[in-house]
Amino acid sequence: MGEKILSIVVPCYNEEAVLTAFYEEIRKQADVLSEHVSCEFLFVDDGSTDGTLSLIRGMAQGDERVHYVSFSRNFGKEAAIYAGLKNAIGDYVVLMDADLQHPPEYLPQMLDGLLSGEYDSVAMRRSDRKGEKRIRSWFSRRFYRLNQKVSGVDIPEGATDYRMMTRQMADAVLSMPEVNRFTKGIFTWVGFRTKWIAYHNVERSLGKSKWTFWGLVKYSLNGIVAFSTIPLAIASVLGALCCVVSMLMAVWVVVKTLIWGDPVGGFPTLITVILFLGGIQLLMIGILGQYFSKMYLEVKHRPMYIAKEQKTVERAEQE
Ligand code: UDP
Ligand code: MG
Repeated sequence: MGEKILSIVVPCYNEEAVLTAFYEEIRKQADVLSEHVSCEFLFVDDGSTDGTLSLIRGMAQGDERVHYVSFSRNFGKEAAIYAGLKNAIGDYVVLMDADLQHPPEYLPQMLDGLLSGEYDSVAMRRSDRKGEKRIRSWFSRRFYRLNQKVSGVDIPEGATDYRMMTRQMADAVLSMPEVNRFTKGIFTWVGFRTKWIAYHNVERSLGKSKWTFWGLVKYSLNGIVAFSTIPLAIASVLGALCCVVSMLMAVWVVVKTLIWGDPVGGFPTLITVILFLGGIQLLMIGILGQYFSKMYLEVKHRPMYIAKEQKTVERAEQE
């Protein structure tokens, strides 16, 4: 039996400040793991504009375990994860951020979970959000609650993308062809048995986070649209509600006229009702538009990413 391989997949976008330190760390961990597996380091350069790619090239020259895919532009982390899973040769695959916020010292423990045969994936969960802006934590928490309610896809609070999985699960994730990829949701959707390990939040050591506040808001809305059709049903519910209310009002108007006569009035009421209904209608059209625009992008079947340069190995055919 040949030795099993663990692929460490690392999406990198402008990470020249931390990449060398990160590489040092995972090399150390690879030595620890060498008892069970040999490692592949697969860097996915997501169209970095700094020296990230040349750093990676340098590593690849001195270390044959280092492989990489470099995108023609920035396609986003979700695309980078997809490319990583696709090009990884490992029997096990782990996704890690380059900024050392996903502590490499957990790798042996994660691998143990898979080797035990009891789990198909081991994922890390932050038990706190130390060092993160209050408002950001608050919104994140709200988002996970909302997402859970709306989509029924149960993502544990504080779930990160730091996750090790078997080849089988990685292939399942790859088999989902959607372009609008909400990876956290996809991992839950494909099922399999997952072990969660909690850890304390680590602040980014060097370089800076690529997320802006609006970026995160967009990410959350995407997550909901990607996994739930409930927002579409809101229109029907509101429509039905309006019908009932208007019927009651009609009855009330008839009764009122019969009893008290019909003095002209109610102009402000009219305006309020018109504005209210107009608002609801626009909102619902907006929600429709969200789904429609996503559909439009899916239907085009564009590739998830375009690689400009890569050094990877063909995966051996499964026997
Ligand atoms: N990343 C990427 N493409 C992007 C943005 C980020 O590949 O468009 C990578 C980044 O290099 C890092 C990981 O995704 O390895 C997480 O990014 P970041 O640390 O900015 O996110 P945060 O930890 O703040 O959620
Ligand atoms: Mg980070």
